[in-house]
Amino acid sequence: MTAQTHLFLCLKDNYGVLLHDPVQGATAAIDAPEAAPIEAALKATGWKLTDILVTHHHADHTDGIAALKQHHRCRVVAPAGEASKIPMVDETVREHDTVRVGSLQGRVLETPGHTAGHISYVFPEDKLAFVGDTLFSIGCGRVIEGTPEMMWQSLLKLRALPDDTRVFCGHEYTQANVRFAKTIETANAALNARAQEVDKLVAAKKPTIPSTLGEEKAANPFLRADLPEVAKSVGLSGQPAWKVFAEVRERKNRS
Ligand SMILES: [Zn+2]
Repeated sequence: MTAQTHLFLCLKDNYGVLLHDPVQGATAAIDAPEAAPIEAALKATGWKLTDILVTHHHADHTDGIAALKQHHRCRVVAPAGEASKIPMVDETVREHDTVRVGSLQGRVLETPGHTAGHISYVFPEDKLAFVGDTLFSIGCGRVIEGTPEMMWQSLLKLRALPDDTRVFCGHEYTQANVRFAKTIETANAALNARAQEVDKLVAAKKPTIPSTLGEEKAANPFLRADLPEVAKSVGLSGQPAWKVFAEVRERKNRS
């Protein structure tokens, strides 16, 4: 395990993250919400930007690309399905493609639903997953361009990763997500423990991410839509998991 990461806030509640390979000196920005905080993070770490790995086309993940590319001549990797909506793309990737950052080896998982072409980047040897706006800590992205069934399948793909995978998501929404999750699973001990942890982190002005996939599986209702207790809680006992997921997502939209 050689990868190093550096996490920082961008815009209002977006996360920027740098992924660094100390062996070859390569550094990737996962998404580029805005250039200035990424430049500041590069300065603070002394790392040189070689790549930008884009998860999806939304402006709050891509607005920094042009300035960074101009300054660093870095490679821009983007999902094949939405490359036409992303500036200055050098390389497009699809399901199971390999993405290298120096000697670090990642693989692409297509995780559509939030947008139609959304992808996640998984670095199995380093146990890292960069999931953009598909999965949040104790939440998930809004289903904007896809269908709830599609989003549920994407979440299942991420859920299949090892429990000790560290999950980096695109936004700091955890405290609000926890508040909502408690309305779905009132008696979930792992969720209540996470709630206390998150309150402490937020009070200390610290990020609540990354979490591990194991923690998310235990407490994130959107990853638990195939459990009888979650179906029961939203009045859909015996229904397919994606319908339970759709109902939980709909309730979150209204919350
Ligand atoms: Zn988005």
